[in-house]
Amino acid sequence: MRCTEHEKWLICMLCVFAFLAVAMLLDRGKSDTVKVSDEHMCFDTTLNITLYVKKDEEKNAKKIIKKCFDKVDALEHVFSATNDASELSMMNATAYKNRFKASDELYNIIMLAKEYDMKTNHAFDISLGRLSDLWDIKGGRTTLPSNKEIKAVLEKTGMYNIECSMGYVLYHEDIKVDLGAIAKGYTTDCLKTLLLEEGIKEAVVNFGGNVLVIGDKDGDGYNIGIKDPRGDGVKTSLKVKDACVVTSGDYERYVMIDGKRYHHIMDNTTGYPSDNLVTSVTVVGENGAICDILSTALFVIGKDEGLKYIKNFEGYEVLYIIDDGGMFESEGFSKYR
Ligand code: AMP
Ligand code: MG
Repeated sequence: MRCTEHEKWLICMLCVFAFLAVAMLLDRGKSDTVKVSDEHMCFDTTLNITLYVKKDEEKNAKKIIKKCFDKVDALEHVFSATNDASELSMMNATAYKNRFKASDELYNIIMLAKEYDMKTNHAFDISLGRLSDLWDIKGGRTTLPSNKEIKAVLEKTGMYNIECSMGYVLYHEDIKVDLGAIAKGYTTDCLKTLLLEEGIKEAVVNFGGNVLVIGDKDGDGYNIGIKDPRGDGVKTSLKVKDACVVTSGDYERYVMIDGKRYHHIMDNTTGYPSDNLVTSVTVVGENGAICDILSTALFVIGKDEGLKYIKNFEGYEVLYIIDDGGMFESEGFSKYR
């Protein structure tokens, strides 16, 4: 069939209108999205949850955030190191006398920690609670503990001192479990499950340095800043889709004694805070608890070994920042740039 000039012009205009209509619909879809955000204090830090939802889901999004806060409060009652009534405190107070019946959550986290104690060649060690107590970095100590004290505590450290069977936990005497390097990551995973069950497609959760990203922000990825360990600002930033980003840093908790920094991440081979020029370690991967474990373990293991070690953990990548500000990344890390 042949078209007249007028008909061609009409078809052309129709195409332009159709294109504009589709573009407007797509744009409406985007501007329909609202950001719903709230903050909550827990685990000695701030939990910030941001959900991106359709305008008519705004009210429900607020309810979902509230559910998340309730969930975290419940988990804090299990994992808190500072609350004497928490399940962890009860276990630490009694599990050296009688075997302790742990809740599923506490038992799961201990079993995961046991597995990664082996997988990290013991660099990740939740049995070093007495060592953390001796150093008391949070309490702001001004003198070093003596070598004798350190040795005495180290002799009573090691995951082989913790027996787990059928939901029961039993310690050797003088062991104290410290979940500071895993509890936030584990909790973030629980929040992820809850948010996905509630149908959330786009979200960013920041739990004191443990970040969870759900969705991909229309394919661009969410921009996540990594703190400058020796400054106030951001040292570098990553583009992240559907993943966790966890950072361990020597700036988070430390004291200065005789001009030297003593921080909160312990090397159980020396009994001292790890001392290898590493200032921060960021791990990116799917599971928040594993990212949390690895960021702490790779901090202790150090840059050169750590960059090789991460290859044992498929799907996980690491970024080291060292004392002079230098940055070193594992091979696959470039996908987050
Ligand atoms: P993170 O910020 O995740 O690296 O966790 C650091 C916290 O974990 C410290 O404040 C201690 O409570 C605890 N911790 C310190 N050193 C270790 C270690 N080598 N393995 C496991 N937990 C540790
Ligand atoms: Mg950690």
